[in-house]
Amino acid sequence: MSDGLLIVSEEVCAKVVDRASAFTAVENVFGAMARNDAYNFPVIREAIGYADALYGFKSGFDRAGKSLGVKSGGYWPGNMDKGLTNHQSTVFLFDPDTGQLQALVGGNYLTAVRTAASSSVSIAHLARKDSKVLGMVGAGHQSTFQLRAAAEQRDFEKVIAWNPHPEMLPRLGAVAAELGLPFEAVEREQLGAEADVIITITSAFEPLLKKEWIKPGTHIACMGTDTKGKQEVAADLVSSASVFTDEVAQSISIGEAQHAFASGAVTEASITPIGKVINGDHPGRASDQEITLFDGTGVGLQDLAVAKVAAQLAQEQGLASVVTL
Ligand code: NAD
Repeated sequence: MSDGLLIVSEEVCAKVVDRASAFTAVENVFGAMARNDAYNFPVIREAIGYADALYGFKSGFDRAGKSLGVKSGGYWPGNMDKGLTNHQSTVFLFDPDTGQLQALVGGNYLTAVRTAASSSVSIAHLARKDSKVLGMVGAGHQSTFQLRAAAEQRDFEKVIAWNPHPEMLPRLGAVAAELGLPFEAVEREQLGAEADVIITITSAFEPLLKKEWIKPGTHIACMGTDTKGKQEVAADLVSSASVFTDEVAQSISIGEAQHAFASGAVTEASITPIGKVINGDHPGRASDQEITLFDGTGVGLQDLAVAKVAAQLAQEQGLASVVTL
């Protein structure tokens, strides 16, 4: 990268980082994590007692991809009224050889694109190849990124969706139409009975999907649960599925598996890092009848991986501002 400090805006990130490059960056870093070439540092997240904000850091080092840095930011609930998105973050990248600051990269678009890449990687490696129906639970900001990325992984013929706030569903319907996929708003039982792949991406604190609604052979990517107390699917669905995750430590503490883990129904040893499947060290799905569940908790290394791609491409394309330090 450049000798100076690169500054890469939100707008430039959206221009240079596409779904394919985010997919590759996230797949590579999950693989590196499973080989112990990359690790995440403990996450800090605090209510700062001002503006109702939650603020924190996600950080890590990827020796294989040479990414060292931190994503700093959080959630400001009053931002919507100011015309800003509630989630705000910035990624700081450092030169792992010298510790010098290399780049400041806008983190808002990248968070959405790396989260969508994560479920997408799980679908690529774990969903049945003949999956035809994509079920979406959730219709907020992240959901459209999720739908676009998932739609590229299998030859889906239809999208069905449910959201606790049904008035939000048309935004997903519009994306499905853009992708040329029929779209139907359905009840949860029907979603479970029809979908081959389900993505959950809500802020729920209670299970939205029951075990008995899900048909054999389904792949579920649980993407909304990233905090202690959150939950999107029933704990007995988690414990009866083959569970994969980005990082086991987060899965059992802040991810979807936290509840099944707390009751003793799943153990650390029963959860497989998806990087093992990516690296060929675990077979992944064992049969067409198995329910696979990916607990996508969101790790700092994903942010660093896509921020590094953004900084490199922005520099190559002359789109980064360069500041001499
Ligand atoms: P958003 O505010 O735009 O949308 C929220 C979604 O959750 C909507 O579908 C809404 O109907 C639903 N919802 C809101 N309150 C609810 C409640 N009490 N019970 C059930 N559902 C509720 O949010 P977003 O940006 O789309 O993010 C969705 C979730 O994804 C959040 O929980 C966020 O923390 C999480 N997230 C996870 C990752 C990750 O890496 N795993 C990354 C980014 C965001």
